[in-house]
This record gives sequence, structure tokens and C-alpha cells, in this order.
Amino acid sequence: MNLILLGPPGAGKGTQAKRLEERYGLVQLSTGDMLRAERASGTPLGKKVQAIMDSGQLVSDDIIVDLIAARIDRLPKGKGFILDGFPRTQPQAEALDAMLARKGLKLDRVIEMKVDEMALIDRIAGRFSCAKCGASYHDRHRRPHQEGVCDACGAHEFVRRADDRPETVKARLSTYRELTAPILPYYRAKGVLRTVDGMAPIDQVAAQIETILESPGAAPNG
Ligand code: ADP
Ligand code: ADP
Ligand code: ZN
Repeated sequence: MNLILLGPPGAGKGTQAKRLEERYGLVQLSTGDMLRAERASGTPLGKKVQAIMDSGQLVSDDIIVDLIAARIDRLPKGKGFILDGFPRTQPQAEALDAMLARKGLKLDRVIEMKVDEMALIDRIAGRFSCAKCGASYHDRHRRPHQEGVCDACGAHEFVRRADDRPETVKARLSTYRELTAPILPYYRAKGVLRTVDGMAPIDQVAAQIETILESPGAAPNG
């Protein structure tokens, strides 16, 4: 089972991807996390993308396609994946198709997560994540079960993203509207697109996604 979670910044892609990893044994491939890891280790690539990320714009398609291709190439045979934050442009969507065709893999479902812009701004303003494993939390909607301890990995350190400032969030939302939302019809035409109500509480969004994945034509183990 190979999936894309598609939605604006703050829609809950990372939150749901972590759940799907656990429930179905899939691997989350988050281009945002990969880029932040490059920055954290101070690689030339990390330095190159820093300013673009902090301004809420997209890193060039070439860089992103190389980054994700290397990860898909290294996946153990038979392991399914969840793309989170990729593709974000039409050229990226087409590059992904070519990449998958070359490896004899197919895309089973593209799950669109719909959330109002007002709610997105609130979610991003309250977002923080585990410094070690990246698990996503929220000051009000999703606190760790034990205060100060990551539910997923037990780490004690949390971080907030530099691009989660309100001004940058507005830029990221318009980037989504202009460059990413236009790829939805591409997947609708292929018959793989399904939409969930991302405004629902986290557990209910997870349940909607499970229903989609367990419906005929999308069996997680088939
Ligand atoms: P969010 O969780 O808010 O959707 P991400 O963590 O996916 O954001 O991405 C953070 C930033 O990393 C983006 O604003 C962009 O600058 C860069 N980025 C991540 N994925 C891509 C991509 N597929 N194409 C271009 N830029 C990307
Ligand atoms: P994305 O990866 O799409 O940018 P995240 O998964 O990081 O989004 O979620 C953004 C913020 O919203 C996080 O603080 C997260 O805990 C919170 N969140 C995620 N899903 C929901 C939901 N269904 N209802 C309320 N808050 C949510
Ligand atoms: Zn953690």
C-alpha cells in the first residue's frame, strides 16, 4: 500500500502519517522532515534551502525529487510508504509517477485532508514537535499524555518550527493554493483521490482514513 497525504500546512498530515506507520507498518516519507534534518546537520543542501523554507516558499523541484528518489530507492522490498508533503507541484507529481513506474510500484490512494484556513492558522500557531522523532503535538488539541514526555519515543525535548510564525504561515497557505491544490484534479482523474474531513478530531480523521484504506481496491496488505 502506497499513499499520499495531501493537504495544506497544518492539515494533520504528519499526525496521521505517524498513526498509519504504526497501524499498517508503512514508512512515512516527509520531505519537510528530510529538509529540516539536512538543516540541523548543517549540510550544503540544508544551508541552500534554509532561506526559502523560512520565507514559506517551495524548494526547487529538482532538489526535492532527488531527495525523495533516494529514499524510495532505499525502501526494503515490499514495504509500503506514506508520502507527507510531497508532491507539492505538478512537475513533482509527474516525476513521482516516473519514479514509481521505473521501480514497478503503484500509488494506491491519495488522501486529501480538507481544513478551513482559520483552523490551520490556529493549529500551526500551537504546534510543537518532538526533537527526537518528530511526533507532532498541539498546545491545546494534542498534548503528550505525560507532560513533557513524547508519547511516541519517550524523549523530553520539544521544538517549534521557525516557519510557524503567523506571517510565514500566510505565505505557506498561498503557496499551497497556487501550486499544490492544482494537482488534486490530476489524481482525481486517475481515480485514486479520496477526501477526508480534516476538521474532525484526530481520532475521527484516523477512522475516516482507515475506512478508505480498508475498502475494496485498497487493502493495506494487498
Ligand atoms: P507543513 O507540515 O506545514 O505542510 P512541511 O514540513 O511539509 O510543511 O514543509 C516545510 C517547508 O519545506 C515548506 O514550506 C517548503 O519550503 C519545504 N518543502 C517541503 N516539502 C517540499 C516539497 N515537496 N517541495 C518543495 N518544498 C518543500
Ligand atoms: P501537517 O503535517 O499537515 O503540517 P500536523 O500533523 O503537524 O500537520 O498538525 C498541525 C497541528 O495541528 C499539530 O499541532 C497537531 O497536533 C494539530 N492537529 C493535527 N490534527 C488535528 C485535528 N484533527 N484536530 C486538531 N488539531 C490537530
Ligand atoms: Zn518523540
